[in-house]
This record gives sequence, structure tokens and C-alpha cells, in this order.
Amino acid sequence: MSKFIKSIRGMHDVLPDDSHRWQSFEAVIRQLMASYGYREIRMPLVESTDLFCRSIGEVTDIVEKEMYTFDDRNGDKLTLRPEGTASCVRAGIQNGLLHNQIQRLWYSGPMFRHERPQKGRYRQFHQFGVEVYGIDTPDIDAELILIGARLWKQLGLQGIRLELNTLGSNQARTEYKQVLVDYLDQHRDVLDEDSLRRLKSNPLRILDSKNPAMKQMLDDAPALMDHLDDESRQQFAKLIASLDAAGIEYTINPRLVRGLDYYCKTVFEWVTDELGAQGTICAGGRYDGLVEQLGGKATPAVGFALGMERILALLESQQQQQAETIDVYMVLLGESSEIKGLQLAEEIREQAPTLKMIAHCGGGSIKSQMKKADKSGAEIAIILAETELENKQVTVKYLREKKEQIAVSFDNLSEFIGSLKIS
Ligand code: ATP
Ligand code: MG
Repeated sequence: MSKFIKSIRGMHDVLPDDSHRWQSFEAVIRQLMASYGYREIRMPLVESTDLFCRSIGEVTDIVEKEMYTFDDRNGDKLTLRPEGTASCVRAGIQNGLLHNQIQRLWYSGPMFRHERPQKGRYRQFHQFGVEVYGIDTPDIDAELILIGARLWKQLGLQGIRLELNTLGSNQARTEYKQVLVDYLDQHRDVLDEDSLRRLKSNPLRILDSKNPAMKQMLDDAPALMDHLDDESRQQFAKLIASLDAAGIEYTINPRLVRGLDYYCKTVFEWVTDELGAQGTICAGGRYDGLVEQLGGKATPAVGFALGMERILALLESQQQQQAETIDVYMVLLGESSEIKGLQLAEEIREQAPTLKMIAHCGGGSIKSQMKKADKSGAEIAIILAETELENKQVTVKYLREKKEQIAVSFDNLSEFIGSLKIS
């Protein structure tokens, strides 16, 4: 026998017992986005490698070591998208969606990063992301945070904290970078290998380090907050006033710098303590320079992305998960009943399109079919055998309630189903 081929490490099937959880989550997202007037955009899973190098930044974890990059048959360098923002900006520029326009957009779908797989960290994972173009004021930053808060509420999730920071304008950040580099340079002996490398290429990222040996030194480092430009300072104050007015709680975390190069001004993360090391479930911020950097006309932009697997894990840990069930199981005994049964089932579906009904296929005894009906979670079984067929009726058996079984004529069946109020 040939060797069994398994899925790629860190890339998982969504099995039928779980897919309904994804579907309800996705339905909440769709409805929520419509309620804020955001529209969906769908981008390809594969893009030119350059797109990610130029946007995310050469010296980031993603570009340095996490991308799935390959040569296609023409010899072009392509990459499976590791995130959605770069593609969204590319699509916006290419299709003329951005210049002098306001766009409120969302997307969702698989992303790919070659990371060490563990709980909440996969090589194929899914993000729901939101991007807004053409608004440079912090009211829209606040709206994005309100969207997050409403999403947690609609999903019934608790204990999700908001961390906030501002990175300042690009110019303020450049000036601060020099101050930081001078400080870090004096503490080279404490810097680990990664940080020494980043000292030249991406010093801000050193602040993000989780290395405990560097913690004290980083705590004492000059803070970006103290080097902000006036405009960023005012914008941050307005954002905070909006959040206060809306009753949103937050912590200001001056060390929050985010892993991607393109952020400026507002950055934020939603975090939970319930998922261990993979506690960031949603992250975002402003990226005013990126559209121009990718060849478009300068356009302000702000967005966030959340990890769908992490949200689903949180839902699972906080809620009693209900299995997906159906409403009606049709038990069909004998060849003529099987033929008539399919026809009746179609008539019922015509009348009640949202009813969830399985018409039994494949024959078998009444005992084995009733067992399947029970296991399916159906509220009622509709039984059709020779006698019923002769009398042009079905037997309705209640599987979850203590009620006598009844006979319903073929003619009244749709009406009977309509009266059930199950779906
Ligand atoms: P982390 O610090 O956990 O690696 P990140 O900063 O790389 O996250 P982003 O690029 O900001 O993450 O992506 C946004 C969100 O996508 C994260 O907050 C997280 O919820 C989710 N995410 C990122 N990488 C993965 C992954 N490999 N598997 C599952 N979810 C992920
Ligand atoms: Mg990461």
C-alpha cells in the first residue's frame, strides 16, 4: 500500500463538527461590517514577493524568516500572502480605489507564515481584517476600536483588554530612533544577537523584544511618548477622548511598537490572558506612508487584523459549545418509500427552505435508521413505510419531547412542517 499523505505541518482541515462555528463567526463579521457601512474586498492568495518586502519591511520576522516564497514557472518570485494589508493597498492602487476617495473595506481568508506551529500559531491561519483609506483624523481610529469592542460583545467574549500607543509622525519617529540608538549603543553588552543586528536595521523593534535579560534595560530606555510631534500628540489625545466618551477601557503601553514597518501614529492590540503566549487576538494601527511607498498617491490609512483561530479558541474556552444539529430526519423503509420520500422531501424544502432536513439514503432497518435520526439531533423523525405509503401519509415521531406520534397526510405535510417553528 502506498504511504498515506498527511496535511502540511501547521496547516489544518476545518472538520464538519467545527465548520458551523466558523460559519457563525463569519456571519457575525459580515453583519457587523454591513452595520458600519464597510464593504468586502477579496484579494488573491499569491502576490509578487516584492510587494511584501517593500511594505512589511526587509528586517521583520515575516520577511526575514516566515514567508512561503517560490519561483513560478516563468521564474517570477511569488509569495503566499502572510497578511492582507499589503495586498489590499496594492489592489486599491491598481484599481483606482484610493485617490481622493474614502474606502471602508474588510476582508477575510487564509494567510501563510512559516512559523513554529503551536497552539494559536499555525502556518496557514485565517485573518479578518479591516482597512480604511482617505481619512487622516483620529475619529476613524476610534471607530476601528469601537468595531473591535462591538465584535467581542456580539460574540459574547469577555476579558479582552485594549493596549494602545502612538508611534508619532514618521519624522518624529526618525528623530526618536537616533535617541534610542544612542541609548542602546551604550548598553550593547545586554543586547542579544537579534537586537544587535536590529540596532542598525530596525532599532524600534528591539523595544518589542520578549527577552527577559533585556527587560530592565528596555524599561529604562527613553520613551517614544516623550519625543512626539505636536500633531501626533493632539491626535492621540482626541482618540483617547473618543474612547473615554464611548466607555472603552484601555491601557497605554509605550512599548507597543508592532512587528511591521509600515505603522505610524496610532497602534493598538487587543489581548487576552486566556490563550497563553498567543494572547494577541487582534492588532492594528495607522499606516499613512504605505500607499505612497507602494507607488500610489499619498493616502492616509488605518486598519486592523484579527486571528480567527485565536478568537475561535477563546469562544471555545468561554462558552458551552453546542453541536450543530438538524431539525428533521426522514426515515424511509422499502424501495417505493425511498422514491416517494425524496419527492416529499423536495416539496418540503420548497415550502421551508431554512428547515434542516436529512432524507435517509442507503436503506437499512427501522432500528438502524431511528438510531441515526437520534444521533443527528433532529427534533422529529418523519417515517414512511409500506403502510404509510398505502394511506398516503407519514408517521411523525417526536424524538426530544414526550408527545404521542401522529399521522400526517401527504397533502398536509408542508403545512405541518411550517407549523413546527423549528427554523
Ligand atoms: P504574534 O506576535 O502573535 O506573532 P503578529 O504581530 O505577527 O502576532 P499580525 O501580523 O499583527 O500578528 O497579525 C494579526 C493577528 O493575526 C495577530 O494578532 C494574531 O491574532 C493573528 N496571527 C498572526 N500570526 C498568526 C499565526 N501564525 N497563527 C495564528 N494566528 C496568527
Ligand atoms: Mg508573528
